[in-house]
Amino acid sequence: MDRKQHRVQLNDGHFMPILGFGTAASAEVPKSETEEATKIAIDAGYRHIDSAFVYDNEEQVGCAIRSKIADGTVKREDIFYTSKLWVTFFQPELVRPALERSLKKLQLDYVDLYIMHFPAALKALEKCKDAGLTKSLGVSNFNHKQLERILNKPGLKYKPVCNQVECHPYLNQRKLLDFCKSKDIVLVAYSALGSQRDKNWVDQNSPVLLDDPVLSAMAKKHKRTPALIALRYQIQRGVVVLAKSFKEKRIRENMQVFEFQLPEEDMKVLDGINKNVRYTRGEFVIGHPEFPFSEEY
Ligand code: NAP
Repeated sequence: MDRKQHRVQLNDGHFMPILGFGTAASAEVPKSETEEATKIAIDAGYRHIDSAFVYDNEEQVGCAIRSKIADGTVKREDIFYTSKLWVTFFQPELVRPALERSLKKLQLDYVDLYIMHFPAALKALEKCKDAGLTKSLGVSNFNHKQLERILNKPGLKYKPVCNQVECHPYLNQRKLLDFCKSKDIVLVAYSALGSQRDKNWVDQNSPVLLDDPVLSAMAKKHKRTPALIALRYQIQRGVVVLAKSFKEKRIRENMQVFEFQLPEEDMKVLDGINKNVRYTRGEFVIGHPEFPFSEEY
């Protein structure tokens, strides 16, 4: 880990900033807010921006990135931009056009990371890396068996650099994290703050992570917020963490994750509040032969 730069080196040699800005928002949120929040995030110091075709916001996120390049805040190479291939484009002949469509919306020449949003085939993605349209290839929502299968694929050209999965103190993914580390694959945590609790996806009776009494007490002790404790927890266990907020105060607050440390005993206490609560249960892919969440990890 390159601590000074707050970034981690991936197994293909590229670097990924360990704090990422999440851009997904529910359909009711005006798209202009996404653009504004992304600009604020870049101004606040975020250099890793996470989006996807299915978030339907790449035009706005691209606009924000390009405007921060135009005003001299950053250069293109300072930004680590992630896009994701949605399940409707998993047939090999649809893969590159899907990435090209994202690039066109973004008005960028390449993405830094292209992620397979749910488990499927990798070959066509490898060609996108060869064509320079993405610097790195990753996967998302893979369980360890699906990862293993990809790693053991005869003729695999590029192993995925990361597996982006739901991960927070209530679903700490200890086993999957150990597995990923053993294979030099970075685990990227989404819903690290307990998800947006969208009523279309998330059981409204599930416990609210940021209301957890242990997190709150620890936040008090460190004079931080429960959100910061949840983000810091990931960074200290070697996880790259995404944080979504469209509120300027919180976007800036979440950058304080680099300003403090949790002692080992607090890390252990946080390990102890795991409840295997999965907020995003992928109900839209239940029944698919590659449904990822029925394995223990
Ligand atoms: P999250 O990061 O868990 O955040 C959840 C909510 O926390 C936000 O709606 C935000 O609300 C609030 N929040 C942020 N900072 C806070 C703070 N300091 N104090 C109190 N509340 C705070 O959200 P997420 O969208 O589930 O996950 C993050 C990103 O991961 C997404 O945006 C997306 O880029 C990615 N993701 C990927 C997948 C996948 O399948 N690969 C799935 C889900 C998400 P406000 O905006 O109101 O501040």
